[in-house]
Amino acid sequence: MVLAQLGGSISRALQQMSNATVIDEKVLNECLNEISRALLQSDVQFKLVRDMQTNIKKIVNLDDLAAGHNKRKIIQQIGVDKVLGQTVLLYWEGVSPNGVAIFNELCKILDPGKPSFTPKKGKTSVIMFVGLQGCGKTTSCTKYAYYHQKKGWKPALVCADTFRAGAFDQLKQNATKAKIPFYGSYMESDPATIAVEGVERFKKENCDLIIVDTSGRHKQEAALFEEMRQVSEATKPDLVIFVMDSSIGQAAFDQAQAFKKSVSVGAVIVTKMDGHAKGGGALSAVAATKSPVIFIGTGEHMDEFEVFDAKPFVSRLLGMGDLSGFMDKLQDVVPMDQQPELLEKLSEGFTLRILYEQYQNLLKMGPIGFSSELMPQGRENENQAKIKRCMTIMDSMTNEELDSVNTKLMNESRMMRIARGSGRTVREVMEMLEEYKRIAKAWSKMKGLQNLRRRPNM
Ligand code: GDP
Repeated sequence: MVLAQLGGSISRALQQMSNATVIDEKVLNECLNEISRALLQSDVQFKLVRDMQTNIKKIVNLDDLAAGHNKRKIIQQIGVDKVLGQTVLLYWEGVSPNGVAIFNELCKILDPGKPSFTPKKGKTSVIMFVGLQGCGKTTSCTKYAYYHQKKGWKPALVCADTFRAGAFDQLKQNATKAKIPFYGSYMESDPATIAVEGVERFKKENCDLIIVDTSGRHKQEAALFEEMRQVSEATKPDLVIFVMDSSIGQAAFDQAQAFKKSVSVGAVIVTKMDGHAKGGGALSAVAATKSPVIFIGTGEHMDEFEVFDAKPFVSRLLGMGDLSGFMDKLQDVVPMDQQPELLEKLSEGFTLRILYEQYQNLLKMGPIGFSSELMPQGRENENQAKIKRCMTIMDSMTNEELDSVNTKLMNESRMMRIARGSGRTVREVMEMLEEYKRIAKAWSKMKGLQNLRRRPNM
């Protein structure tokens, strides 16, 4: 079952439960069984699925269910009591009263913890990639370099794979396409020597992310692990990234463990998440080894590469967009006394002005506002700069534009005027509007929002 299908099956199961008039133990069990079936078909370990079932049943008070309590009671039981929290639950009610519990449990299954080391822009870090042959290691090295290059880093690639004929050419070709400096040798056969030469050269050139691609083998064997250790000892990498093909599903658990035992793996990249039935299984299996998955590969192209973060990932899986993160954030930053007012305004529609006000709240909070799970750590400044940029753009909008509940108004000449006024490019204005549309769409999904004023005591 590919991931999109898995998401669809879970959403359908939740929907069915929410359609039931009374949620009793039978309805809950049917829903959980349906979800469990979908997870098992995606190759998620039986134990994880069973634990999820047990945990959800613990959260949801079965006695209440037996007494036939209504949905609202059950929602309250999940225990989020802030006004905005209730909004999330109202949204979730459209999907399922127990959606929050299920969402959290799915996140738990996929949450692998934090990487052992996070490189810092402007400070040299050596990152060594390891993995079996064909797992997508060379492709991921370039994707990783390209991802950081786009964010203003100065990456470089070193090919220390002397085992596979053509490895250097492949890396060279990828690197050239992405305009990333590379180092390798057709003559030298000792991978550790090449790795050291490459690392030295790029240190002198002040590259801040020196990526060393090592050899793979068809299977885990002593020679592979020995070579990995030699390259690691010679280059003293700050971070070793283990690359793994997701199509192996649950077997990912053993493979990740074996690599962890041989070299100090600090992070994992799971590749080929596009179109593979066992992607969910692979991700959960890696998470079960407590190895932090930092990126997933979603295609052969350079930019088919995504930061992996369990919460937004599960949100997307369930078709919620990044709503959970956004809600977390808003709940944190909107002062309690402003929340009812905000909800009132929101029930009329999500305007650019509302977004502006929420950005103001975020900025007022300073760094704390930017350090949630929603915004990856170490990127606080980047996030802050992005928000300020969006606000500058909005400063050049008219009241009519700010109070409109959609972007239909925004024709080319308006966008050009806004760009000129804010000293930004039209492209940046368009990007800002896209961001707004994304958030507004997430809000519009909250089916219960319209009923809010009718249900003040919820
Ligand atoms: P290596 O031997 O581990 O270095 O593997 P390569 O980087 O050469 O990749 C092996 C094959 O997998 C190539 O055909 C890549 O294009 C392909 N590949 C790598 N990552 C992905 C991915 O995320 N999705 C898909 N569909 N293919 C990938």
